[in-house]
Amino acid sequence: MAFNMSKCIYCLQEKSANEFSLEHIVPQFLGGAYAPDIFKTRNVCKKCNNNLGLFVDGSFARDSLIGWYLREIDSLNIDTLDKDSIALPLVCMGKVENIKFPDVPADYVCESWLGPFGEQIYWVRPDDTKKPSYIGGNPIDSRRKESTLYCFLTEKSKSYLSLVLKSFSDFESKNNNIRRVLGAEIFDSEGTKIEEIKGFDKRTQLDEDRVSYFYQRKDKVIQGSLCFDIHQSRRFLAKLAIGFINTFYDNPYEILENSYSKILYNLLWLQSNGTGLPKVNGGEDPDQRINEITAISNCITILFLNTGEGLTYTLNLGGKKVFTIKIADTNKGLSLEENKMLILNKNLEKSVFISFREFIDWKLKNVENKDLTELVNISKSSEKILNEMRESSPINFEEVF
Ligand SMILES: [Zn+2]
Repeated sequence: MAFNMSKCIYCLQEKSANEFSLEHIVPQFLGGAYAPDIFKTRNVCKKCNNNLGLFVDGSFARDSLIGWYLREIDSLNIDTLDKDSIALPLVCMGKVENIKFPDVPADYVCESWLGPFGEQIYWVRPDDTKKPSYIGGNPIDSRRKESTLYCFLTEKSKSYLSLVLKSFSDFESKNNNIRRVLGAEIFDSEGTKIEEIKGFDKRTQLDEDRVSYFYQRKDKVIQGSLCFDIHQSRRFLAKLAIGFINTFYDNPYEILENSYSKILYNLLWLQSNGTGLPKVNGGEDPDQRINEITAISNCITILFLNTGEGLTYTLNLGGKKVFTIKIADTNKGLSLEENKMLILNKNLEKSVFISFREFIDWKLKNVENKDLTELVNISKSSEKILNEMRESSPINFEEVF
């Protein structure tokens, strides 16, 4: 029986056609699902699609710092018209060292998060010592093993109770093995206790013990630690570069075999060259000008620049973090006709792919671009509504609680 064989751009293995699946070169957590079709490919095997998505994209997205930046971007895209049903992002503060909730199993840790109005959230979840920088732990373990999220409200939460509760209940909502426990009792306007709160579990005796432990030591300082893993970022950046070779070169497999691509593969597959992992050219870009030019506070932007000696990309996370990486060091077969800019907004489910010149004209010279203006307008109203929410004083505290 003859099979149509194809080669996967990530593992470079020849496999039969039915072992391939659709891959978003720009992963979905950056809004890749809404990128133009040229950023989708079938040159990726199912195994790489799954594993690299889970562990390379996942590690990057869940890196404490990157996760923080991505959540900042999310909070600048809230729907101002519907503020009672939106959820705001939580921010990870790291693993807690000096809070010892009762009866936490030895292979579990307690991770601290902050809610939109300073609420304290403690996630008692399985530990993953292999990936200490991975906030939220190993995604497979956290799906398989039960964990518990304890949510404690602040005075301010009460003004926006439905928003706060939705932010807690939507948090990690794909992960269906999280029990959610609210560290407060809620009463209706008649003073009757509400027994069932949507998105939360009923407290067990253990939960009661842990909640009262929290209140006993409430005023003490909490010590936490955050951990970063530079290799995980490099793995992700190299994977993206390999994907862009597939997007922009007429003969991607030829480019993928050259010596510069070998550096990318060493990074992607964590192959040390004896003196540690190779550095990818460019790396984290300290150039503030590139950051300022490519930044949009509520979007992910990617600039593709033909340097004359090859192609680079600059990934900008809302102006908060910028990476510039060389994709390839040749222009042979490069199909990019001019420098291009991809602007992604996952929350609005949109992207804009235009020439860098058009982008600059819009950004620096105020030449109107309807699509871009539409993408950024929401951030102005988001900022306004967030400020209003954060400045407002709590109302009717006794009536709510
Ligand atoms: Zn593969």
